[in-house]
Amino acid sequence: MPDSAASAPGDFIRGLIARDVASGKHGGRVVTRFPPEPNGYLHVGHAKSICLNFGVAQEFGGLCRLRFDDTNPTSEDVEYVESIQQDVRWLGFDWGEQCHFTSDYFQRLYEFAVALIRKGLAYVDDLSSEEITDHRGTLTEPGRDSPYRTRSVQENLDLFERMKAGEFENGERVLRAKIDMAAQNLVMRDPILYRVHKVPHHRTGDKWCIYPMYDFAHCLSDAIESVTHSLCTLEFVDHRAIYDWLIEHLEVPSHPKQTEFARLNLTYTVMSKRVLLKLVTGGHVSGWDDPRMPTISGMRRRGYPPAAIRRFCREIGVAKRDNTIQLERLEHAIREDLNANAPRVMAVLDPLRVVIENYPDGQVEMLEAVNNPEDPQMGTRSVPFSRVLYIEREDFLEDPPRKFFRLAPGREVRLRYAYFITCTDVVKDASGRIVELRCRYDPATRGGDAPDGRKVRGTLHWVSAEQALAAEVRLYDKLFRVEDPLDAPPGGDFTANLSPDSLTRVRDARLEPSLADAAPGDCFQFERLGYFCVDPDSRPGALVLNRTVTLRDSWAKIAKQAAGAASSRRDRTRDAAE
Ligand code: ATP
Ligand code: MG
Repeated sequence: MPDSAASAPGDFIRGLIARDVASGKHGGRVVTRFPPEPNGYLHVGHAKSICLNFGVAQEFGGLCRLRFDDTNPTSEDVEYVESIQQDVRWLGFDWGEQCHFTSDYFQRLYEFAVALIRKGLAYVDDLSSEEITDHRGTLTEPGRDSPYRTRSVQENLDLFERMKAGEFENGERVLRAKIDMAAQNLVMRDPILYRVHKVPHHRTGDKWCIYPMYDFAHCLSDAIESVTHSLCTLEFVDHRAIYDWLIEHLEVPSHPKQTEFARLNLTYTVMSKRVLLKLVTGGHVSGWDDPRMPTISGMRRRGYPPAAIRRFCREIGVAKRDNTIQLERLEHAIREDLNANAPRVMAVLDPLRVVIENYPDGQVEMLEAVNNPEDPQMGTRSVPFSRVLYIEREDFLEDPPRKFFRLAPGREVRLRYAYFITCTDVVKDASGRIVELRCRYDPATRGGDAPDGRKVRGTLHWVSAEQALAAEVRLYDKLFRVEDPLDAPPGGDFTANLSPDSLTRVRDARLEPSLADAAPGDCFQFERLGYFCVDPDSRPGALVLNRTVTLRDSWAKIAKQAAGAASSRRDRTRDAAE
């Protein structure tokens, strides 16, 4: 993908890989992997990991594998396997032949475990999970050895084989590494390698009733797949010790290295599959692909272009320290992309009928409208103009304040790509609600300019009533009201932070007829309103559109303020130094 290769910033991971390649480490090869657990849909945090793993593989002429870390059959499902594949592909990456499953390695992993037992480096423990926790000790106190730690190799081999044969129930026995119960790093206090879990697996069925733990399976799967650089998020820093220990003590086909980077955190966003699942099962959203979800499928439905997501991931970079990115920054990246690429059209969300009294009844003329002023290559289209139009209700005020430059009684404005019109009368219903405006147009202003050079201050979007398409438009706002949604209010859970205004349905919007053939996934700028994307709920003659983002770029302001704060901080430091 040229966009990630072209201007990838030199982050510490790329620096490290460049040094490894230069020094001939791993034979100069670069092999990475993206290792999701198929227990939910991917989210924007995964996008960062995907862009990093597939991105560096491309940049260094290497290979990136997709590996499903499917060692926990209770929460995993083929639905998730399929959605993950679809999402990675949609983001623009290709694993070629390299789609793997940890479950493909269950036999080899079992053999690795047996080899550890033979070396006296693993034992079967009969302690319950509570007792194991109790023996583990704390950060300040060493742990205590299990009474089963000194079992003979023979006994361990026998018991482990019987675990595999299904002789013991869940929780009755586990296999543990024999490392050091006094280790500073708690992860190294005889970590559990295998547990009995009598649950059928979505790929291996009833074949296995013991399953390897993440710490055991992950590094060995990396080694089996000749991964060179195993990139993971910071919560695995403490696990690097067991990763290295297993690679060191087993006869493995290759010696991968784990490197940790900061996970993506976004304001107003939850990014744990477990929590996202609660939103789905609790009915707080319509599904994993609800356009308010930070899932890749949600972003796709919302209209986020994959190139914009990749660009966002590239721009935020990869760091060693945790930080939180402003949601506005993601929206900024989306807007930049759509501004350049989405065709502009006219749509009216809250229609107010306008009758042009001096325009011939029954006449329809086609006017030329520019598809994207940012890109002349995108050409023009024709939009119909006629005697009865719709404009946006909020673009008219009977009694306008001083700075309101849109339509008002007696006021002249421009209808985009059409004519100047002047409001001559206001029609109301019995309740006093405005139902129609009577206007006159100036035929000399066709195209939107007056030959006599007179100016108007307002330009409105509009659609011709008879030709307009009716549509439902879904306006989205932030799903949560607070920057840190998991910071639950006292006595409540995180769902108390859900915003009541995250979805507004506009049932009776009117669109210009050029959208008649729009298909799900097509994105548009509705002039003056924002960016919108056709939803898969659309039916012939009944379009549904999702608002992707508004036109207002609050990131520019935030960035400016942040830059201002930083420079005043610098000034203060300078003042202090002087
Ligand atoms: P979750 O907590 O959402 O379930 P996870 O880490 O358990 O996330 P996995 O399926 O195990 O999900 O993740 C696959 C890969 O994606 C891992 O390498 C993980 O480090 C990475 N990843 C997950 N969340 C993020 C994030 N927010 N930012 C960057 N990478 C992430
Ligand atoms: Mg996980």
